[in-house]
Amino acid sequence: MRHQIVIIGGGSGGISVASRLKRQLRNADIAIIEPSEKHYYQPYWTLVGAGIVPKEASERSEASVMPTGITWIRNRVQDIDADHNQVMLATGETVDYDYLVVTPGLQIDWDKVQGLKEALGHDGVCSIYDYQQAEKTWEMVRAFKGGHAIFTAPATPIKCGGAPQKIMFLAEETFVTKGVRERSQVSFYTGGGVIFGVKVYADALQKVADRKKLDYRFKHDLKAIHAERKEAVFCRTTDAGIEEVTVSYDLLHVVPPMSAPDFVKRSTVALQDGPLKGWMAVDHSTLQHPTYANVFGLGDVIGTPNAKTGAAIRKQAPTVADNLVAQIKGAALTHTYNGYGSCPLVTGRGKLILAEFNYKNEATPSFPFNQAKERYDMYMLKRHGLPFLYWNLMLKGLA
Ligand code: FAD
Repeated sequence: MRHQIVIIGGGSGGISVASRLKRQLRNADIAIIEPSEKHYYQPYWTLVGAGIVPKEASERSEASVMPTGITWIRNRVQDIDADHNQVMLATGETVDYDYLVVTPGLQIDWDKVQGLKEALGHDGVCSIYDYQQAEKTWEMVRAFKGGHAIFTAPATPIKCGGAPQKIMFLAEETFVTKGVRERSQVSFYTGGGVIFGVKVYADALQKVADRKKLDYRFKHDLKAIHAERKEAVFCRTTDAGIEEVTVSYDLLHVVPPMSAPDFVKRSTVALQDGPLKGWMAVDHSTLQHPTYANVFGLGDVIGTPNAKTGAAIRKQAPTVADNLVAQIKGAALTHTYNGYGSCPLVTGRGKLILAEFNYKNEATPSFPFNQAKERYDMYMLKRHGLPFLYWNLMLKGLA
């Protein structure tokens, strides 16, 4: 099999970039390799976990988002051989390419927390980082009778860095509504060291945390769950070293460690060293691979210091499409990505802080008002506006 342009992954990045390339290169032979029959609008999973939208609202068939004129290879990439312009499929065939776009998202390492796989979905252990489990999260939050509710975040990069706190804010609000908040402790145990990376939004979130009387524990990375005893074991990093801390829970919302997909990690397109080793190497500005000029990357898989969000992809997709077209034409790569990312921080039903920022963690607000304040209209933007934008404009390469 051979195609001029091969795109690995038909998620947010793959479909957005394919739509743009198809429009810019009408006769191009483009293929997307994507194993899933379903396409998900993952930002809805936070709202699914809070019982605000049904999980089905986040799901459409992959066929319905596949741009016309693109070959869909319903298969899984097993390996990339960038030295020979080839990808190997799970079924053993190879696909040759002239140009490659790598955008398979990231891998959720559920098995890196001992006991998590077995515990998930039972006895108060839940996670919004999965389509089915997001719904179970709401069942558990709704059924919570009081006690210790713990929300975790890992030390690794994750998609939507704000989601672990958003689900905590929404769950805490439910505990208040259900009358169980007074007999509960609500804690956030994070492998990270700060509440949020951008100061203006960190200050705003701190006020929310204070108002809700949330107990924050930094540098606590979840390592194991003893479901039979309802205990969570964290590795706490201090100046003196690492110590184990065991905490009892009644509800445990887990955000597991994440990494680049294994086939990316073991390929030569991955960063070979440094703190982001294993994530895909790209020039931070042009999103072209530093060694393989015919290879580009975007989305959660790339080893760049931006927030891994769909909002980032909205800015990355035009960069990759324009620069890939320039590369084909032998022209200079002029389109640049500045690290834009956005995190709509839902702090309750009808309340949202819209964080927008760049590589330098500078706030880059789109609206002429203080986005660090909780607002109803920004909540409605997340609830209705952004999904509309996603399905009707972004995936079609129009925004
Ligand atoms: P994905 O959209 O995950 O797509 C990757 C695709 O690659 C998938 O279809 C997969 O099947 C395919 N694939 C995987 N492995 C292979 C393989 N071996 N071969 C071929 N194909 C493969 N973003 C926001 O902007 N705002 C938010 O509020 C927000 N909230 C979020 C809340 C949650 C709970 C979650 C989970 C995510 C949230 N995000 C949010 C993040 C956003 O959904 C992701 O950043 C975005 O979907 C990443 O797009 P992607 O194309 O890189 O990966």
